[in-house]
Formats: sequence, C-alpha cells, structure tokens
Amino acid sequence: MEIQKKVGKMYHRVDPTFKRKLLESPGGETFKFCYQCGTCTATCPVARFTDVFRPNKVIHLAKLGIRNVVYSDAVWLCVNCYSCTERCPQGVKVADVMRALKNLAVADGVIPEFSKAFLTTILDTGWAYSIPASRIAKRASMGLPPLPKPFLEDLKKLAKMTEASNLLEQERDAE
Ligand code: SF4
Ligand code: SF4
Repeated sequence: MEIQKKVGKMYHRVDPTFKRKLLESPGGETFKFCYQCGTCTATCPVARFTDVFRPNKVIHLAKLGIRNVVYSDAVWLCVNCYSCTERCPQGVKVADVMRALKNLAVADGVIPEFSKAFLTTILDTGWAYSIPASRIAKRASMGLPPLPKPFLEDLKKLAKMTEASNLLEQERDAE
C-alpha cells in the first residue's frame, strides 16, 4: 500500500513497507536509532560541498518511507568514508545504511547514470577511468614503469557473480 505525502513543495509516495525492508537489509539495521542530531551531516565531507546530500535527511526520509527521495542520485554521493559512523552518538552505522540504500535501489532497478558509466569503464578497461594515451606516453618519458595489466577476465567474472553485468545488459536491451 502506498499513500501520497507532501514534503516541501512536492508530493512523494510513502511506502509503509520500506522501513522494514531497510531494517532487514545488511547494513541497514541501525538506522532506526537515529534521533536527528545532525552530527553525521556536520561531519560529512561531501555535505560540506553540496546542498543536495544531507545524510541525516536521507535517514529521516527513509524512516518516513519516502522511497523515491531516498533513491535519488544524492545517496550515491556518499563515498563511504565512515566519518559519520565514527561520530554518531546513537551508534547508527550511517555509511552502512547508505550502502544498504544503494543496494535496495539497485535491486529495484534504480542506478544513476554516472554509476553505470563508471561500471562500464571498469569492465571495458580495467580502470576507474579511461587513461589517455598522452598520460601513458608521459609516464614513459618520465622513466616510470608501464601500468600493470588489468585483470579484465577476473573483473568480468566478479561482475557476473554480483549480477552487475546483468543490470548493465538489461539497461542496454531496454534502450
Ligand atoms: S549522527 Fe546519528 S543520530 Fe545524529 S542525525 Fe546522524 S545518524 Fe542520526
Ligand atoms: S560515509 Fe558517506 S555520509 Fe558518512 S561522512 Fe562519509 S560521505 Fe558522508
């Protein structure tokens, strides 16, 4: 059952089952202890540079069951540095909660474009970004050793085992 709830100027769907789903997801268990002190957001190095990501707000919205906001691209800005987790007075494992939210979002087929592009590059090149030929030439001119060969086959196996490659293929088929 989903009901509509007004948040700010927008209407969002409230999913009463979402809270339980998060509680049952590995890493999501502690979010229920949050009492909205804001320490995580004050600590977060990402929140320092953008208004769109506030970890305490994400947790608050998750508690309300406002799934579509929780699944927004903002959650993916979390870099899992664990600064928040170390300082939360309630023992909320905030970084793990963010990871659990990303996992739930992916299970529901919600993956931001930049994550898809990132994964595609890793699977195609073995690197987190395409290294330009000029950079490789520069390394050689400075007497640096060549970059190690990426383990592409192992990466592909890993992507298959974690079903990451299936998700990308489904996306490509849908285009
Ligand atoms: S620091 Fe902990 S209790 Fe405070 S808002 Fe963040 S998650 Fe909630
Ligand atoms: S783990 Fe994520 S939410 Fe926590 S401080 Fe680091 S970037 Fe911010």
